[in-house]
Amino acid sequence: MESLHSEVETHEKIINQLRGVVDPELGSDIVDLGMVKDVLIKNEGHLHLTIALTTSGCPLRAQIQKDVHAKMRSIVEINRVTIDWTELSDDERAKTMDRARFNLSKEEIATQIPKSTKSIMIASGKGGVGKSSVTANLATGLAARGLTVGVLDADIWGFSIPQMLGFEGRLAGNEETQKIVPLEKRIGDGTLKVVSMGFLVDENKSSLNWRGLILNRAVRHFLEDVEWGDLDYLVIDMPPGTGDVQMGLAKMLPRSDMIVVTTPSKTVQTVASRVASMAQSYYLRIAGVIENMTSFINEDGKKYEIFGSGGGAQLAEELGVPLLGSIPIDPIVSQSSDNGSPIVLEDGHASEALNAIVDEIIHSAVPRINPVDCTAHNTLETPVSIKND
Ligand code: ADP
Repeated sequence: MESLHSEVETHEKIINQLRGVVDPELGSDIVDLGMVKDVLIKNEGHLHLTIALTTSGCPLRAQIQKDVHAKMRSIVEINRVTIDWTELSDDERAKTMDRARFNLSKEEIATQIPKSTKSIMIASGKGGVGKSSVTANLATGLAARGLTVGVLDADIWGFSIPQMLGFEGRLAGNEETQKIVPLEKRIGDGTLKVVSMGFLVDENKSSLNWRGLILNRAVRHFLEDVEWGDLDYLVIDMPPGTGDVQMGLAKMLPRSDMIVVTTPSKTVQTVASRVASMAQSYYLRIAGVIENMTSFINEDGKKYEIFGSGGGAQLAEELGVPLLGSIPIDPIVSQSSDNGSPIVLEDGHASEALNAIVDEIIHSAVPRINPVDCTAHNTLETPVSIKND
């Protein structure tokens, strides 16, 4: 009786964790989409899962697999996981699609962000850890690889993206479409499109005493009323911590991935994990952790761990996600931010670390959705209302 009870409890934990695994293409969790076909706990904590995909050849399988393993690591009763992959039948696939469309129409506001855009929230527990510097550099690095990248500066109180990316000017409107047009810049073969509160207020020093809900409306306008056009990635500089704006964005962009920036310090790691919990409670996928200000490397190559060590790796372990990289302290990061020319385009230790992270994002952590790879994608473009049964 006792063991039956604990087995039911473990089963429940497994299902709850699997609810945090989102099919990156369909934007809903794999339990809700009916893709988890069998959960079998064998002897000695060996879990056997059967998961059905929309198409067996879908390249997003690797990501789902990684996420399932990461989630299962948090269940102490499970020490080994094997997954059998199958394909949904035509009927099941139709139901899954209806479900996904229903979920999207219910949760998502009608943003101007194309469905094929991968949006990445760059978040941190507190200010000053380098979240905006990381946002500016990753966005520039992605654009330098020939991609079209939107940057949404949602750090409304402390906007610094315009200066870091070397943008000056005002947001203008398109008379025909009545939409706001982002400021644009070419980086190599790619493009950066930027929207920030900094393009609306008179000068950087203007104090914004707006309350949370008003700020949330402002961010919502940036998603609904900006003519973003085609985008491969949307990189969002989140305000630090877990306030109204962060929760609003999590609701408005339920298919977004989050990257958490922390420093090696234990205190920063603890507050960063709160942001991660907020993301998880909205079923956002956490794609990884970046440790910034890892160490200072002098001209002789000697390392000084000024802010301690290990905070990033520990947070990544705690969240069951990869540590995407560690960026050393380098005064040039700060100087290049002030000059509006991100370090990722230059040489040096910090630049190498940032470029490696950009490659990791494209190839593994947050790969782009290629609509021709998975058949499901196109049917999601028109949301429909169905009964929630
Ligand atoms: P946040 O967005 O978390 O508040 P910022 O990106 O504004 O943090 O960074 C805070 C300060 O630290 C800025 O002056 C920035 O130039 C500097 N900085 C960020 N990362 C590094 C780094 N790796 N090395 C040196 N200075 C850095």
